[in-house]
Formats: sequence, structure tokens, C-alpha cells
Amino acid sequence: MNTIELLGKKALSVAFAHDYYAWAEEQLKYEHNSLALQRLADEWTIQQLSADEIEDFFQQALNDLAKSEPGERQVLFDYAEYLCTQILDNKLMPKAGISLLEDFVSLRDRYPLFSVWSFLCIDIWSPHTEDQIYVNTGLTSENSDAYIRDICRQFITLLHTDLPEDFFTKRLCVECLNRYAPPTAEKYSEEEARPNAAQCPHCQSEQTFSMNDYLGRKHHLEHTAAIAH
Ligand SMILES: [Zn+2]
Repeated sequence: MNTIELLGKKALSVAFAHDYYAWAEEQLKYEHNSLALQRLADEWTIQQLSADEIEDFFQQALNDLAKSEPGERQVLFDYAEYLCTQILDNKLMPKAGISLLEDFVSLRDRYPLFSVWSFLCIDIWSPHTEDQIYVNTGLTSENSDAYIRDICRQFITLLHTDLPEDFFTKRLCVECLNRYAPPTAEKYSEEEARPNAAQCPHCQSEQTFSMNDYLGRKHHLEHTAAIAH
């Protein structure tokens, strides 16, 4: 286990003693050495340590390696990008990768970009019938591995793109390139005709996309320069 993985797991609260052990072992393999690393790489010792003691040895080992722990945002984005790259390089099976990326969903209020995995997981893990409408346009059970790879490629681009804060709450009309907030059910009484969320309020086109949809984000990235924010 490399440092990006362990720091990412720590930030997601899914790092356990065996992860620290695997990390320390890998460091020793690269001929890094220190007393703290040796303690963590000793399977018997690490089992006797409390979570706080393990963390203390980890901090000491990082210090000995002249490494520092970046801020939470950097750690999480680095780990997410690392997992996507592993999937794209065929070192991680797409569905196994998605199981790990699903851990990021709990932090989507703080980091809205992780909504990408939330809607992909809904599509991938829910039972579907043939004519089921997916959040992600074009995803089927047959093409899911290739689709996951496309989303990973797109996610890496999004990580390095300046997105509007309300990115995931607006729909994009590909006819007039306006972004608009879809009407919510609460705003309209039962008697009132409920406007169709898919219809653009500016040009009435129904060629509009949610940013929860891979295809919507693809359109956004293709037209970024022309989109009115
Ligand atoms: Zn429009």
C-alpha cells in the first residue's frame, strides 16, 4: 500500500491496522527504514497497539521519511485520482474500483464532486429491468465496465477543472447552453401544472441534461467556454 492510499483511507475513516502494516511493509521494500516503520511492519507488534499508538508510529514514520500529510481536500482528491488511474490502467477491476470510490459518497456535502460516484453506484448496484431509465445516459449492464472507465477519465478532468459551486444542482440545455435550476416539487401546488424539469425555461428545448448524468457533464466540459454561468 502506498502513501496516497493510506492517507486517503485515513481521511475516509476506513484505514485499519492491516493497512498500516501493508504500508510499512511496502516502505521497507523500497529500502526506507526507521524504528517506527519496523514497529508497524511487525505483524505481532501492530496487533498489540491501540489505534492512537498506530497513528503515532505512522506520524513518526512519515516524519522519518521527510513526508508530510497534506490537507484533507488534497488527500481525498489524490486518492480518488489514484483509484481512477488504477482502473484505467487495468490494475483494478472497474466494479472493484467503484466499491472503493463509493466510500467517498459520504463526503459529498463537503465535496460535491463525489456525487459522481453516488449516482453511478445507484445505477450500477440497483437491480434494473430492460427498459429502466438510468441516471447516466447510455449505461447498460453490458457496457458498464467501459462506462465506468469513461467516468473515471471524466472524473480526473473534473478534478482539475474550475466548476461553478452550483454545478450539480443545475441542468444544462444543449440548445441554448443555459444552465437552470430544475423546478422542485415543493415549489408547486398539486393544482398548478408542474413544469417539466427536462424543458429549458429559456428556449423550451427538451435537450437538457442533469449534471448527475455522465452525458450532461460531458456536454458541460465540451461547451464550458460558451456556457453562461
Ligand atoms: Zn435552452
